[in-house]
Amino acid sequence: MLATAPYDPAVLRAQIVGLDTPLPRHHGAPAPAINLDNAATTPPLRSVQAAVERFLAVYSSVHRGAGLKSQAASAAYEQARAVVGRFVGARPGQHQTIFTRNTTEALNLLARRIAIRPGQVIISTQLEHHSNDLPWRAVAPVLHVRATSDGSLDLAHYAELLRQYAGRVRLVAVTGGSNVTGHIPPIHDLAALAHAAGAEIAVDAAQLAPHRRIDIGDLADPTHIDYVALSGHKLYAPYGAGALVGRADTFQRGAPLLAGGGSVRQVSAADVEWADGPAREEAGTPNAVGAIALAAACLALEEIGLEAIAAHEAALTAYALDELARVPGLWLYGDPDPATAETRLGVIPFCLDGHEPHLVAAMLSYEAGIAVRSGSFCAHPYVGRLLQSQFTGCEPGQVGLVRASFGLYTTEDDVDTLVRTLRAIAAGDYDGLYEPDPERGGFRPVGWDAAPESLFQLDNAASSIFLRRSPASCGGAGGSRPAESRSSP
Ligand code: PMP
Repeated sequence: MLATAPYDPAVLRAQIVGLDTPLPRHHGAPAPAINLDNAATTPPLRSVQAAVERFLAVYSSVHRGAGLKSQAASAAYEQARAVVGRFVGARPGQHQTIFTRNTTEALNLLARRIAIRPGQVIISTQLEHHSNDLPWRAVAPVLHVRATSDGSLDLAHYAELLRQYAGRVRLVAVTGGSNVTGHIPPIHDLAALAHAAGAEIAVDAAQLAPHRRIDIGDLADPTHIDYVALSGHKLYAPYGAGALVGRADTFQRGAPLLAGGGSVRQVSAADVEWADGPAREEAGTPNAVGAIALAAACLALEEIGLEAIAAHEAALTAYALDELARVPGLWLYGDPDPATAETRLGVIPFCLDGHEPHLVAAMLSYEAGIAVRSGSFCAHPYVGRLLQSQFTGCEPGQVGLVRASFGLYTTEDDVDTLVRTLRAIAAGDYDGLYEPDPERGGFRPVGWDAAPESLFQLDNAASSIFLRRSPASCGGAGGSRPAESRSSP
């Protein structure tokens, strides 16, 4: 059982893989790290790992075999599809859930599958991750709704663009939650306006899905979302699967983006009859393990309770904003108000006076084992806008920001360690002398010699079982031999 009442991050932490892995420090003994980079990717849930382990026991080809394991694997794969669809409120008969590698693939797939007539445009926004901007630029002219100076969406500009391009807007592509500021645009209000203008709306839910309940909505409801894209690796299921959930009618027309085995009903020398349903978009053998993992994560988040997760993360965000604002020389970007923490995600961008963001990120990591991200977070126009509009005393000509982002297992202690370390950095009270790291980019302490490869090595422990076989046991008559003889040197 995952559910905790009341919400207890300490209990939940025990359900996360890898939080106790000791990592080297610049000074002192190796110690577990604090992961404040959940917007980039999340560690796996143990329940996800366990579901994968159980599934592997019946793993076999999906929709391609007559064996019983194949039947079991195929049924599990379809069950996973139903679970992931339900997670975002998909209505059977109205919506289709297509497994992809990640959000990026889901959005590229969608961009290639919606029919765009000459003269039509896409409305995207200045807040987007490149994955919800570049796929659209490849298929149609894209207009970007401006961000305001605090990083929220300029709703007046959105309405103006819809008016200006009346009758020509094919689709609105908007983030469900920003990976830079945590801003949550009002997607259902945007949807109502898009639909009134004759457009559809796609929501990039890579950041939203792990933190908020999503309801794609009934197609008859004017506030419904037409398409939702998400990634398993940001949802505690890093096994290489994501999903595109969207209106089924879009995928009943035309040829799929990828053609090949599994996507067809019938092929003759001259013709192809495409399969109905999600199979049409999933040519090739699917990532069944990833799909099971993603579905297991959806079930776990539902069991923990998305409302409980949102409440915990909002309280933590309010606490962090309050504490960070009091660090000397620290500048918060986006909405810095702790009172509005419930309306945004726990993604906090900041910089520190006189310190390059990559240097701050390196110091947090090497001095205190705190993992954050620095840079422009695959959202260059948005970060550029924030840097331009919020003048601060940070590094002149600064490129990028530092970002701390929370997960369901983040605690106040984690935030306290972050704040304490930033205070020390601001005061010049840190151990290392830092130099650019030419191999990995960013910075590292002078004299640092712990290679990251030492933390994980693909060894041949598994294959050595074969290598250590005595010659006599190889190519024998195929009967089983005693274990001792197989493992003898
Ligand atoms: N959109 C947003 C808002 C994101 O944060 C990310 C990942 N950083 C993506 C899209 C792309 O997700 P993925 O790399 O899983 O395709």
